[in-house]
Amino acid sequence: MQVRRRFWDSVLEGPVAQEVLEGNDAKAEVLLAQALVEHENAPRAALYLIGAGPGHPDLLTVRAVQLLAQADVVLYDHLIPPDTLARYARKEALKLPVGKRAADHSRTQNEITDLIEQHLRANKIVARLKGGDPGIYAHAAEELKIAQQLDVPCQIVPGITAALGCAAMAGIPLTERNVASGVRFLTLYDATLHDENFWKSIALGTSDTLVLYMSTNRRAWLFEKLLSLGLRADLPVLLVEQGTTPLHTEYEATLGSFDTLYNGHIFITPALLIIGDVVRWRSRNGWKEPAAARRDWFQKEAHHARQ
Ligand code: SAH
Repeated sequence: MQVRRRFWDSVLEGPVAQEVLEGNDAKAEVLLAQALVEHENAPRAALYLIGAGPGHPDLLTVRAVQLLAQADVVLYDHLIPPDTLARYARKEALKLPVGKRAADHSRTQNEITDLIEQHLRANKIVARLKGGDPGIYAHAAEELKIAQQLDVPCQIVPGITAALGCAAMAGIPLTERNVASGVRFLTLYDATLHDENFWKSIALGTSDTLVLYMSTNRRAWLFEKLLSLGLRADLPVLLVEQGTTPLHTEYEATLGSFDTLYNGHIFITPALLIIGDVVRWRSRNGWKEPAAARRDWFQKEAHHARQ
């Protein structure tokens, strides 16, 4: 939008306007046609890695909204709320879902980077819209590399990562004086499972709140490991499912009781785990979406899935 506005400003204040004022319409038309060709050929390619926030369509930054409105091409993850594209992307923008789900890999990371490259080479402004923050478990480095290789301007636009969105909606501060001096965002990569130094650092850092991404299906193993490292059995655990969406659901227990309490329960993704004493602050009367929003969300999700 800004690019178009700048173009029209230059037309209205430049030689084209001058010729019109002097009554030389034919000359003004030729100059306008020239300006349009130059404008089309001007380098405009740019890559924006934009954080869309954790689920609620209000939870993205003003800058994310501004840059999304400029994009010619929007490549979006499956965790993007259906409303976000409809509200903030240009109608004429090419919108391509490139989500990767564990079960259905719609596109590999290589295919995504190829798509980005193809559109940057075609002189397009590409918005890579990612759930949460684009720098947290989101392959940002691989995608930034393409822009660097093509020498195209590139920006990371931060977003509210799932840990922050889920904690806020549950009413939990992730750090709190005398309770949690820090917070660690973690995941259980295969290599991490057998890395004893990693686990030692967890055992030593017991004053940190732990937030685990992409780890809910390994929770039984995780809880046992944490107990074996000496973490307390009564340490509170909160699992947040579909955080900040109208389907936001919280399950609270402790390291020792979680599996017995929710034995056999199948949790819906995306979900994350918050482990630490700060969970005690959880508010049951916090920010909740009204029932109408839930109905609406189901319809939009179904529509989104068909796109
Ligand atoms: N870049 C994202 C994380 C991508 S990894 C971010 O900053 O949030 C995907 C994992 O994020 C999921 O497996 C889940 O653990 C977590 N996640 C993403 N959105 C979530 C949500 N709305 N509620 C709970 N967990 C979520």
